[in-house]
Amino acid sequence: MKVLVLGSGAREHALVKAVAADPEVDAVIAAPGNPGIDATALCVPVDILDGAAVAAVAREHEVDLVVVGPEAPLVAGVADVCREAGFAVFGPSAEAARLEGSKSFAKEVMAAADVPTALAHVCTTMAEVEAALDALGAPHVVKDDGLAAGKGVVVTDSREVALEHARTCLDKPDGRLVVEEFLDGPEVSVFCISDGETVVALAPAQDFKRVGDDDDGPNTGGMGAYSPLDWAPAGLADEIVRRVAQPTVDEMRRRGTPFVGTLYVGLALTSRGPKVIEFNARFGDPDGQASIARLETPFAQLLLAAATGGLAEFGRLRWSDDHAVVVVVASAGYPASPRTGDPITGLDAAAEVPGVVVLHAGTALDAEGTLVSAGGRVLDVVAVASSLAKARQAAYDAVAVIELDGSHHRTDIALRAERGDITIGGAR
Ligand code: AMP
Repeated sequence: MKVLVLGSGAREHALVKAVAADPEVDAVIAAPGNPGIDATALCVPVDILDGAAVAAVAREHEVDLVVVGPEAPLVAGVADVCREAGFAVFGPSAEAARLEGSKSFAKEVMAAADVPTALAHVCTTMAEVEAALDALGAPHVVKDDGLAAGKGVVVTDSREVALEHARTCLDKPDGRLVVEEFLDGPEVSVFCISDGETVVALAPAQDFKRVGDDDDGPNTGGMGAYSPLDWAPAGLADEIVRRVAQPTVDEMRRRGTPFVGTLYVGLALTSRGPKVIEFNARFGDPDGQASIARLETPFAQLLLAAATGGLAEFGRLRWSDDHAVVVVVASAGYPASPRTGDPITGLDAAAEVPGVVVLHAGTALDAEGTLVSAGGRVLDVVAVASSLAKARQAAYDAVAVIELDGSHHRTDIALRAERGDITIGGAR
């Protein structure tokens, strides 16, 4: 099998590695890829928002499967163009990707499918925002309706801060936002893979969105993750398939826009049961990496089955008993104003730590061929070991030998889980 993977971050590096490890796969092409992906896949420079250009790459390399990593090409309809060109595609149509692209659309589908989620008010004027804040009370949750790379959401006790964010959202063309009920309890990510009809869930993971230790500071794209979640209720993934993913997939099919790809269910485990915080239409980054790191089922075969309507016959997924911890190394100034162009060293030494793989997120080669930072999140250190404590230790041992001037990372990824200090419905 030949597989084309679209994207250039750590998530795509993980996808490429997992696909390449499938015995059925003899070549992986990445578009555009990155310097880390280049070691495993043939990297082809192409604008992945240009469906015709992507389909041309797929044709040239005669691929059997196209895997779309990030959200932007999905929302731009690249999966549709490739499907129309006759390729098997893992990733939803633009219409189905609206589950991620529009928070108000996702809310409407959840209501129709009777999926448990936070109460929400869709607002297009400040007067509506004021009324929604009054109705739902503090803490306030204000979400930009469109794609904002995980940064369009403000959760705050301050009405002023909530109103200010609302103004920023509404000032945009066609500005629209969602004011939501605050959900207590720890957050969990469940990646549900669907062929449009059948749904299978990957092992739940937890990610860490705030930039600083103890969930301090602004939201980011994600600073770390781990899986499995020993503290979560047994059978959580099955429950989420039954109560959330299957009804949503059924509703999308009923509407004539079947969802094929990864339905990422972001949940809060509240005192009143699991409730959906958000849907995404692709694997999370970095929580997807934590989940995929433990999957023993041949990955390309799984994605091909989903892309071709074959999940019902695919059989159960197999998992290693190990634990995976991902620590993100971010550049100076991330998330507000990431500095790029700094040399990165120590990756060989990091990869020598047993169980560790270093994934490239925002890296590039400069004119002299030196590896430099090229984004806010620069590297993901993924460690797999027989216990959570050992996986944390390995991840942080590897982080310690990586040198990138001004870089920062969280030191408490999976720490509360290791200490057994997480309660459902308790503080996040
Ligand atoms: P989203 O982009 O919807 O995933 O939101 C980003 C982050 O904001 C989530 O991961 C949560 O940490 C937080 N958040 C979003 N919605 C809520 C909510 N209703 N209650 C509490 N926190 C929320």
